[in-house]
Amino acid sequence: MVPDDASNGMDPLRFSHLAGCPDLVHAVFDRKGGVSSPPFDTLNVGFSTGDDPVAVTENRNRILSYLGLSRALFLHQVHGSDILELLAENADPKLFWKPGMSLPTACATADGVVTDMSGLALVIQVADCQAVMMADPYKKVIANVHSGWRGSLENIIGKCVDVMTGRFRCRPEDILAGISPSLGPCCAEFKHFRKEIPQNLWQYKRLDKDYFDFWALSCDQLLEKGLRHDHIKKMNLCTRCSGDLYFSYRKAKKTGRFACAIGLL
Ligand SMILES: [Zn+2]
Repeated sequence: MVPDDASNGMDPLRFSHLAGCPDLVHAVFDRKGGVSSPPFDTLNVGFSTGDDPVAVTENRNRILSYLGLSRALFLHQVHGSDILELLAENADPKLFWKPGMSLPTACATADGVVTDMSGLALVIQVADCQAVMMADPYKKVIANVHSGWRGSLENIIGKCVDVMTGRFRCRPEDILAGISPSLGPCCAEFKHFRKEIPQNLWQYKRLDKDYFDFWALSCDQLLEKGLRHDHIKKMNLCTRCSGDLYFSYRKAKKTGRFACAIGLL
């Protein structure tokens, strides 16, 4: 348990199935508990937003402290579908964020990461896109994926499961997955969907409006890879219409990024 005095007012959400795994920590942070000023108030972990780097640094340190982990991996996310395979033997220590750092470290360019390393928080930064956390509690393998609509079209979630089952020898039926708050079917409007979204995915469009349900697509992408239905949880929280709980790019272009983190103890 995290003592109250270390939480700084942070009150992240958790997925029930991941919370039940020993040696695993995870958290979906919201905007509360950081030090950034508006419009990045307060727990912004993204350096590329225009926020004061000193504040971002403190915010990153706070989430690490909350998780009880000593280092973190932040990715240079580019809405692609590359997955970083992070093994102890190939891990470049320069990629890791540690408390006390005052500038962004070198960053691997990828939109997903899989590892079996312990003591390391895998952090995805979002403001409407999905972060999809995964864990195999038997093999002690974890993953975190940044899946915006472009990532959804490229099925980065399925590619991440392939890395877990291939390189890391996980069984699909053992993998637990959690889908973070993101732009929901209430707000994910695609006026130009005929150009932007392939026709085989139009089944995810609402009948009444040009709004898409990317949560349902993600669930289907996980099911297609053999995950059990009851191992897939989604928070069903829309970033744009959840008040000011989460950063939302659709709501305000100049905004922060909230952190979704998972780590092995
Ligand atoms: Zn909404």
